Amino acid sequence: MAPKQLLIAGGGIGGLAAALAATRAGWEVRVFERTPQFSEVGAGIQLGPNATRILQSWGLGDALSAVAAFPERLQVRNALSGELLGGMPLGERMRTRYGASYATIHRADIHGLLATAVQQQAEVHLNLDQGLREFADDGCSVTITTEQGLQVEGDALIGADGVWSGTRQQLLGDSPPRVTGHLAYRTMLRQTSLPERLRSVQVTAWLGPRLHVVQYPVRGGEWMNVVAIVQGVPRADAPGWDQEAHVSDLQRAMGATCEPLQSLIAAVPAASVNEHAWRLWPLSDRAPVSGPGQMAGGLVGLLGDAAHPMRPYMAQGAGMAIEDAAALERALAMNAVDVPTRLRRYALERWQRCARVQARSIRNGQIFHSTGLIRLGRDVSMRLLGERLLDVPWLYKSS
Ligand SMILES: Cc1cc2nc3c(=O)[nH]c(=O)nc-3n(C[C@H](O)[C@H](O)[C@H](O)COP(=O)(O)OP(=O)(O)OC[C@H]3O[C@@H](n4cnc5c(N)ncnc54)[C@H](O)[C@@H]3O)c2cc1C
Repeated sequence: MAPKQLLIAGGGIGGLAAALAATRAGWEVRVFERTPQFSEVGAGIQLGPNATRILQSWGLGDALSAVAAFPERLQVRNALSGELLGGMPLGERMRTRYGASYATIHRADIHGLLATAVQQQAEVHLNLDQGLREFADDGCSVTITTEQGLQVEGDALIGADGVWSGTRQQLLGDSPPRVTGHLAYRTMLRQTSLPERLRSVQVTAWLGPRLHVVQYPVRGGEWMNVVAIVQGVPRADAPGWDQEAHVSDLQRAMGATCEPLQSLIAAVPAASVNEHAWRLWPLSDRAPVSGPGQMAGGLVGLLGDAAHPMRPYMAQGAGMAIEDAAALERALAMNAVDVPTRLRRYALERWQRCARVQARSIRNGQIFHSTGLIRLGRDVSMRLLGERLLDVPWLYKSS
């Protein structure tokens, strides 16, 4: 029997992970990516053992080891005083406890290793510069029309087209994503371009009032990713989700923070290889998924940020997309049942866990940015409970 055909809108981390997963389930895959070439922005992501375990099971462990960093420790500091509040071992402790590593990686590197794996599969056809415009699901097959007018028929469609997903818009007809009022300033630096005292191979989270900063190594520790998240609205003259940041805006927001943090922020323009050292991403999200119908209907499923865009305060958006792909593989392989039942099975397996991570991400943001008495309580709890607050067994153990 000829293999079933999966169409995927979006060639980001989620779309490529889904493509790989579907071939493992015996499907042939066509990926349609809107941009003319793959180009992930210069930013890092953290991948917990729930995600790296899946990459390992797909045979990508060595490729991951070649490009990622594996920090030994997570530390949490007060952004105002610089005081160390708590910490947790990562490295060997994560491998022993959860059977997989805690990795930090450049987005282009995780995307690149997935793209290489996908390109090695004869069953995957990548179509760049072909954005999905609309789809038609007649119950037997689904036909997509691209923005360039191409029509392609398949047995199922996965919308992995990100937070502003057109697939989602057509499937669910819901409102646009929410503007969170949180702004992420991001940069990537060579560690050697920084004064020695500002370099670090740990994951450090600095918790402020109404802001926090996270820094961690990528590319075997040679580079450092820094993201500062502050509350506010972007300038009216700067549209888009990825903007050139005004350093003065960031410095104003960081005004009262401790000297090491201010020194790090101040060192960035000189240390950066880019003319515009900081990029600014206004953050959007959606309320947590409220049922399986929000992740699949008929012959169409949603995956990654298209399904459950979340605030980055659990560092799990890409991790959840990779988990989605692993669940999709299990569902697509259920050859005894029809395709809508398989996609329903996928949605049933995923929606509650994704909703839990979305909700916890919102709560973490409130704690990270808390003010007044709540902030004092946060710091006391972190000093007393440290690792017990930072470790997340329900998240890292399963996927
Ligand atoms: C500040 C910040 C920090 C983060 N840190 C972490 C972290 O530490 N760990 C973690 O796991 N996650 C993190 N994330 C989240 C993570 O980046 C996302 O969850 C993840 O990239 C989602 O992948 P995706 O493939 O679903 O979507 P995307 O990466 O958005 O990819 C969607 C793709 O679809 C394409 N596309 C869009 N529309 C169409 C169309 N109509 N047709 C075809 N193609 C289309 C786009 O061009 C894009 O290539 C962070 C996010 C932010 C903002």
